Amino acid sequence: MRVRTCEICGKRVSRYVCQECGREVCQFCLEPNTWVCLDCYHSLKQETPVLEVFPWSTPFKLFLLSFLLILIGTIFTLIASVLPGTFSIGAIIFLGPIPIILGAGPHLIWVIILAFALTILGIVAFITLRKRAG
Ligand SMILES: [Zn+2]
Ligand SMILES: [Zn+2]
Repeated sequence: MRVRTCEICGKRVSRYVCQECGREVCQFCLEPNTWVCLDCYHSLKQETPVLEVFPWSTPFKLFLLSFLLILIGTIFTLIASVLPGTFSIGAIIFLGPIPIILGAGPHLIWVIILAFALTILGIVAFITLRKRAG
């Protein structure tokens, strides 16, 4: 019985066959993920460059804009809540163009009015920027 040796290193017993060139290779000369010998693996790796694409699409920009609006709204409501004699908490959450107003405290009505005014301002800015983008 003839023992086949690896056609790459010629030292170890070959157990696998390269799926690219058909050479018999040992376990150390085989790339386990691609099932090809190391020679083919390196040449294939050079032939197929890894493409990394990060698309800055329009939905992402709109998401970023609404996130910015949430941040501005939160800052304004925080300022309103730390005003003397006011212990109200309010926040506007934008789900796309739909605003959700959250609030708690004795002066909630003023926080809501402020939040509402900011929401309208935000929507106007949102539409204006959207028109400018498109
Ligand atoms: Zn080998
Ligand atoms: Zn090969």
